[in-house]
Amino acid sequence: MATTVLRGGRVLDVAADRADPVDIAIVCGSIAEIGAPGTIEPPGAAVVDASDRLLVPGLVNAHTHAHGGLGRGAVGDKVPLELFLNAAGAINGQRTIEDKYLSAALSAAEMIRRGCTAGFDLFVEFPAPSAEGVRAVAQAYAEIGMRAVVAPMLADRTLYQALPGLLDAIPEPQRGYLAGIAMAPFETSLANIRPLFADWPFDRDYVRPAIAPTIPLHCSDEFIVACARMAREFDIPFQTHLAETKVQAVLSRAKYGKSMTAHLDALGVLGSKFSGAHGIWIDRLDMDLIAQRGGRIAHNPGSNLRLGSGIAAMREMIDAGIEVGIGTDGSNTGDGQNIFEAARLAAYLSRMQGPEYGRWITAREAFEAATAGSARLLGFDKLGRIAPGFAADIVFLRLDQPQYVPLRSPTVQMVFGESGSAVDKVMIGGRMVFADGKLLTLDEAKLRREAEAAAARLDAANERIRQTGASVHDFVGAFCVAHGRAGCHIRRRLDCLPA
Ligand SMILES: [Zn+2]
Repeated sequence: MATTVLRGGRVLDVAADRADPVDIAIVCGSIAEIGAPGTIEPPGAAVVDASDRLLVPGLVNAHTHAHGGLGRGAVGDKVPLELFLNAAGAINGQRTIEDKYLSAALSAAEMIRRGCTAGFDLFVEFPAPSAEGVRAVAQAYAEIGMRAVVAPMLADRTLYQALPGLLDAIPEPQRGYLAGIAMAPFETSLANIRPLFADWPFDRDYVRPAIAPTIPLHCSDEFIVACARMAREFDIPFQTHLAETKVQAVLSRAKYGKSMTAHLDALGVLGSKFSGAHGIWIDRLDMDLIAQRGGRIAHNPGSNLRLGSGIAAMREMIDAGIEVGIGTDGSNTGDGQNIFEAARLAAYLSRMQGPEYGRWITAREAFEAATAGSARLLGFDKLGRIAPGFAADIVFLRLDQPQYVPLRSPTVQMVFGESGSAVDKVMIGGRMVFADGKLLTLDEAKLRREAEAAAARLDAANERIRQTGASVHDFVGAFCVAHGRAGCHIRRRLDCLPA
């Protein structure tokens, strides 16, 4: 058995806020033994010098979108979620299988560069998912050597059909045109992916399938129930965007007569395989329901700020008994795949939710959510810690970088000070995938050339649909503002607070 020894690295003990030098023996991709420096010397072992490096478990992204990689920069500046979705056809349309692979590779490469070793990826294909598309995205992760949960993101309604009243707010002739756009019937979507799920060709220790009805309002109830049934059948995770915006929360109550969470529970969807992305506009009753069923939340503080969606109540969710993971969302809504940044924002934003500083999210809590918490949301139990029996997914941080000089509180200095700039090496399953500023499993220069060529081709091909989206931008925007101003007992944005 191939053994690797990491010599002299300082392993972060996040609870004790210490980082003492140790040797780590890695056998067959897992951590076999941790001992004092110089005490582990198996014959024939490969040795990696880890001195002057802070060793931390690979971060885990609880919510991202592979298609965001090629969509970077296409969304504009002041764009709330519903306006982003109004432009989604222009951003994601006309993509070939190679484009889907390319977009996933871009996302994966950025995650690894920022010390992230696993992610839960909801990627989209229009008008329906395809086995080839799912395979291409999974292949990108497999080739780069990153762990991922790959979930085709599904809908059987367009944005315009999903939000009650939206089409009425759009004048002709666009109304007629948009009303005529259709997603594939849900039976087609599920039939397309079923054979691949039944005969998954990738190593499940690295890349696993999952299913993701995108936003409950964008899916018929029959579709949501069928997705949950498929998740149970294949024993795979189920993730959906849960009450990400106030517009969704308000329209869910109008449509279902109850909250989105209560509606999903009535459909029998909440359970231990369930995770809700964002979970901003949920109240304590919703949180209690999710906790009782063993569900989880993927908290995406950066994307929530970027899209103006609101500040999720992470402490309240933890109080309710929900395990929270940390995500970035896609690169076109969160502007990057940086879990260090997301963890910091999760902790910082909690400080804006009340003066009771004892309730603020600590650096330790944010980091544990961004590692083991996210990992359990992905369904990986042996990720997120540097300990015997856990996978050797290890990030090496340079201790000569300014954020660590002088080093007093490694946990606080890393979680609040690390931007990803100190990432020196990244190991996944005992295999080095990033070192000396370079990805070792991917030709990044080639990836860049291909991405730029693909973006130019896709922007030209999608110009007409972009113009259509732009022609209704103000109507969709006015609809969002009206519903964003509607009365709601949940307060997650600063405009909800008394002046
Ligand atoms: Zn998302």
